[in-house]
Amino acid sequence: MRNDSIKVGVIGVGHLGQHHVKHYASIPNAELIGVFDEDYERAKTIANSYGTIAFKDIDSLIMKTEAVSIVTPTKHHAKISEQCLLKNNHIFIEKPITKTLEEADRLLLLAEKKHRLIQVGHIERLNPALIALNSFDLNPKFIEIQRLAPYTTRGTDVPVVLDLMIHDIDILLALVAFPVKEINATGLSILTNSVDIAHARINFSNGTVASVLSSRIAKDRQRKIKLFQKDLYATIDLLIGSTEIYKVEKISEKDKSIETLMTTPFNYEGEKKIISYEKLNVIPKDALWMELENFIKSIQGKETPIVTGKDGRDALKVALEIQDIIIKDIN
Ligand code: NAD
Repeated sequence: MRNDSIKVGVIGVGHLGQHHVKHYASIPNAELIGVFDEDYERAKTIANSYGTIAFKDIDSLIMKTEAVSIVTPTKHHAKISEQCLLKNNHIFIEKPITKTLEEADRLLLLAEKKHRLIQVGHIERLNPALIALNSFDLNPKFIEIQRLAPYTTRGTDVPVVLDLMIHDIDILLALVAFPVKEINATGLSILTNSVDIAHARINFSNGTVASVLSSRIAKDRQRKIKLFQKDLYATIDLLIGSTEIYKVEKISEKDKSIETLMTTPFNYEGEKKIISYEKLNVIPKDALWMELENFIKSIQGKETPIVTGKDGRDALKVALEIQDIIIKDIN
């Protein structure tokens, strides 16, 4: 375990990368060495805002760092990641890990060989509304997820499945700890040459079924998860940070404080039950700050990565399968 600071840099300081820089400037034990962006003017602006250095070439930065965030468009992730691993940097790659599975596998192998960490920016895993569910014994049988976003040009270098749906695939793979058995999917191109709206039905080997809808052609943003299991229904709004639980429960004296949906108890499986309602206490926290802090602490050996390179690779594998099915369906 280490207590000294980790020398860190950020590669790609566009819309999201600037926030990586801002957070590294304040995370304890992260020593911000500098930034690199192929747009040097942009790099200088961001570096000046956070009192750090804009490097003119990537090698000069990664010779001085031991860890970097890679926040460039996805098509550059593989090449830049490899370059950084070869210079013995631990890497935090924004999602999706890479464009192809072969690229992801190559990076995982290289990281293992170099004894370096790869973490992937599946930020929703650290969403406080999802974390609030940790105290529940979850065994969902049906999960419905909707992620809708208005059109922006950012992220459109990849289909909506790799841009938006991959967040929910990662959540699903973490929630249902069983292999995917079967996938059905359909989608449409509306504004770009790639798929802008996608729907997937994913069957897991334990019988759990998930229905996932992602669209980047929506009027308003929406990120909702509905989760059903025996005696429990949870509804999670990842955008506003709200988690509500409805449960079939036995009536007892101690439950008098529970806000009940049904004032009249009913007979269920031979016992008097109520449907209880609970709005969980979701403590607002910056998920990006938390995942980067987890990266720094994982390098120090104080924590383990919440979203590993393998998790990023597994989410990519399912996303690519969905994308393939959609493309076959369209053609
Ligand atoms: P962006 O276009 O705003 O920024 C990308 C930056 O990378 C630009 O400043 C560009 O000049 C720079 N760049 C491009 N090629 C480069 C190269 N070869 N070397 C160095 N710099 C280079 O994009 P963005 O929205 O910030 O997205 C960046 C990455 O973050 C993408 O992989 C995207 O999928 C991911 N992302 C993740 C989330 C999330 O929720 N976790 C949200 C948005 C974006």
